[in-house]
Amino acid sequence: MASHAASVTCLHSNLSSLSLPSRRSRNEHSAPHSLTITASKNPPISGRSLRAAVIGGGPAGSSAAESLASGGIETFLFERSPAAAKPCGGAIPLCMLDEFKIPLQLVDRHVTEMKIISPSNLTVDFGKTLHPGEFIAMVRREVLDSFLRSRAESSGASLITGLVTDLEVPSSDSAPYVVHYTSNSSPRSLAVDVVVGADGANSRVAKSIKAGDYSWAIAFQERIRLPEEKMKYYENLAEMYLGSDVSPDFYAWVFPKCDHVAVGTGTICSKQEIKAFQRGIRERVKPKIAGGEVIKVEAHPIPEHPRPVRVRGRVALVGDAAGYVTKCSGEGIYFAAKSGRMCGEAIVKASERGTREVREEDLRREYLREWDARYASTYRLLDLLQSVFYRSNRTREALVELCGDEYVQRMSLDSYMYKRLAAGNRWEDVKMAANTVGSLVRAHIMGRHVDALEA
Ligand SMILES: Cc1cc2nc3c(=O)[nH]c(=O)nc-3n(C[C@H](O)[C@H](O)[C@H](O)COP(=O)(O)OP(=O)(O)OC[C@H]3O[C@@H](n4cnc5c(N)ncnc54)[C@H](O)[C@@H]3O)c2cc1C
Repeated sequence: MASHAASVTCLHSNLSSLSLPSRRSRNEHSAPHSLTITASKNPPISGRSLRAAVIGGGPAGSSAAESLASGGIETFLFERSPAAAKPCGGAIPLCMLDEFKIPLQLVDRHVTEMKIISPSNLTVDFGKTLHPGEFIAMVRREVLDSFLRSRAESSGASLITGLVTDLEVPSSDSAPYVVHYTSNSSPRSLAVDVVVGADGANSRVAKSIKAGDYSWAIAFQERIRLPEEKMKYYENLAEMYLGSDVSPDFYAWVFPKCDHVAVGTGTICSKQEIKAFQRGIRERVKPKIAGGEVIKVEAHPIPEHPRPVRVRGRVALVGDAAGYVTKCSGEGIYFAAKSGRMCGEAIVKASERGTREVREEDLRREYLREWDARYASTYRLLDLLQSVFYRSNRTREALVELCGDEYVQRMSLDSYMYKRLAAGNRWEDVKMAANTVGSLVRAHIMGRHVDALEA
């Protein structure tokens, strides 16, 4: 779920002059003067370190646990099923490999061709402006998640294989939270000072702290093992299909993995029709997957918005539990890992490496405020673009046409792959804005003719 995100993120960085994410560096975050202020506020903990429970061992939870444990916090990472595979397309941006030190051996495919296919089958190769060495990484989640969890353990986190059944919220500022869980069929509990809810879209932690609901999409995916010659076609190629036959408000995809392709789709507004849309994408790619064997069928909700509450008391939500998937693209892995890490680092900083208590205001200041300063405008813009471009087949045609523009592609790829705003060229930006309007108008007029012919 990648290159499409790229195109819309590009428009973000260029068409609009919305407020840019804050560019504070990690050094600025740990500026000594702010540490001093925090230290003077919170009472010290004696005889032990701050105790943190991280609920959920996906990218968000493992990254949070790694940061916490490396920062001197006594960390417990709960995962109900470490051997399971999270239903996911597994596309991650290039910068994540570097930033999260993910070894290249974990990457199944280096995607260098990204075809975006319109409802009328107009096809644009989004990869033509990639530079040598650039690619979109395709991973299997069972591989990535298990690696990140192991690394959290190596940093000192204790991995508890168990299903968290309840989080008991204390009534006072200094009393512990109690995590109730089942491990090896036995009920157990653990008292901690601070909790990170990284338990995904159906977050139990979010319910415990009454964090409120968000709207969500359902995504459905089949892993299909293809005959060798068909797999060859998808060797380094990802495809994204747009059209009301495959989704009324999202897109469908074919992503290559080590020995199979992941074929899927999603929708927010017509969840009960998801299987019909899956038949739609299978029909669009029929000749390319002929002879394939379905080896896994999976479905899962994707949050569409950040939750109304992401921090309450000494509990912080990260990743899907917080609702950090971007609209338009459904990209969530990088944002999950990033929010987990930022939250972990915030707790380490506020507690002075586990030697002091933390309070709600610390989590708000060090984690939430930083996160929103960096990413809130990105989420808002992608939301807007989804409502403009995924509205009808006409606007989807316009989007694909626009994606053919090399400037749009390059700026989009930079924004997606490096999670940075590329420096634009004013004249090209003006041209791009004009092209956007032109594409939408053209698609609208052509759509009317097509509708008239069909009537
Ligand atoms: C079909 C599909 C395709 C997608 N494709 C992409 C893509 O290509 N690229 C991309 O960037 N994003 C994609 N996403 C989104 C991405 O999967 C999520 O944003 C990402 O997994 C969020 O990570 P997380 O760690 O927050 O949550 P999760 O990955 O959901 O991890 C939550 C973890 O918590 C555990 N857990 C839950 N409840 C409990 C409990 N009570 N006790 C103990 N453990 C618990 C779960 O077992 C799980 O391991 C896709 C999503 C779907 C559904």
